[in-house]
Amino acid sequence: MVDCIVVGAGPAGSTAAYHLAKRGRSVLVLEKDALPRYKPCCGGVSPAIAQWFDFDFSPVISARVDTIRYTWKLRDPVNAALKTKEPFWMVQRDEFDHFLVQQAQAQGAEVRQGTEVKKIEFQGDRWQVYTNSNPVAAPYLIAADGTKGPMAALLGFKSRKQQMAAALELAHGINGKAPVQFEFGLVKDGSIWNFPKANGASVGMSTFRGNNTPNFSKLLAEYVKLAELNVGEIHPQLHPMCFWEGEQTLHTQNALLTGDAAGIADPMTAEGIRPAMLSAVKAAEAIDAALGGDSEALARYTEAMNADWGHEMQWAQRLAGVFYRIPGIAYRVAVKQPIASEKMGQIMCGDLRYSDVVSIAVKKLSGGLLG
Ligand SMILES: Cc1cc2nc3c(=O)[nH]c(=O)nc-3n(C[C@H](O)[C@H](O)[C@H](O)COP(=O)(O)OP(=O)(O)OC[C@H]3O[C@@H](n4cnc5c(N)ncnc54)[C@H](O)[C@@H]3O)c2cc1C
Repeated sequence: MVDCIVVGAGPAGSTAAYHLAKRGRSVLVLEKDALPRYKPCCGGVSPAIAQWFDFDFSPVISARVDTIRYTWKLRDPVNAALKTKEPFWMVQRDEFDHFLVQQAQAQGAEVRQGTEVKKIEFQGDRWQVYTNSNPVAAPYLIAADGTKGPMAALLGFKSRKQQMAAALELAHGINGKAPVQFEFGLVKDGSIWNFPKANGASVGMSTFRGNNTPNFSKLLAEYVKLAELNVGEIHPQLHPMCFWEGEQTLHTQNALLTGDAAGIADPMTAEGIRPAMLSAVKAAEAIDAALGGDSEALARYTEAMNADWGHEMQWAQRLAGVFYRIPGIAYRVAVKQPIASEKMGQIMCGDLRYSDVVSIAVKKLSGGLLG
């Protein structure tokens, strides 16, 4: 029997497996898909993640971008230098995620691909995990199976609100020298992101409020036409997002939720990779301590996530709450200020915290809401 079973081999699962294996714990990762697998995503990664690893991510950084461009209905552009310590990383998710899996394997983690978890049962001192092949068991479980996985529900957590998002991969039309682009105005309650890669770009779209799923194909077709991107038929891949909604419990009997399975993505920008990895680093620490006999370690994981990431996400929520309610005013009052673009870039790259700057922006925008 291994020390811990990790369900899902995305950034959260591989990071947790990497850190547990590095601490000398035996880990089994179960992944339903064949690897490498693609995850609908724009692949913008904060370089701040490097602090949690002792290896170099260069082999899977497709582009490093140091400029940002905002538009309103593809007009009225704002171009700004990122002015961050490190440029923003652009990755292809199949490559990035597989690289992380390989790093975990190199530390000794066992990975079983094509293995889908169907059912779990706590039996005295261990989780019995039933899959499409042989059942497996471990005293501890980490759920890292994303927004579409069953683990949160199987562990008894209440379901989280989902906002549908979509990604479209462009094989040409842009290259790695382009800026990261955020378009507001074309999508009600949301935004479009266009992230350049070495040989193409990923275009993504999400709403951040409301219950309506927009017609992604139509909106993306309009976007690529207005942006004069030469693409053929539009086949976006849909994938739900669960944004941070407030303080939450992320532990239960010998098990933890991490990454998208925990609903911790940024409700302002849809950033989910950095929080997935942060939660996984903390989850690995907690399970290592629990295996060492610390009975409070899993509860402390919940506390730490609420205190560190949750505190920041409260500010992101407040900002998103006003921003996406009055996007036209917000674009004029906030986005068009060079200092605002600079600060947002610094937040995305991990150089600045929302809590350092957002209260001023929220006050300014709330003034716009009242005025
Ligand atoms: C359109 C779009 C664009 C985005 N763009 C960005 C961006 O630019 N930057 C950013 O930071 N974030 C972005 N995100 C968010 C980001 O993609 C996610 O937050 C991130 O993938 C979360 O990682 P994870 O490891 O928690 O889950 P995932 O990456 O979803 O991995 C979960 C894994 O679990 C596996 N799994 C599921 N069920 C089972 C099961 N029953 N048994 C075994 N395995 C299972 C899945 O196959 C999958 O491999 C975007 C999201 C969307 C939808």
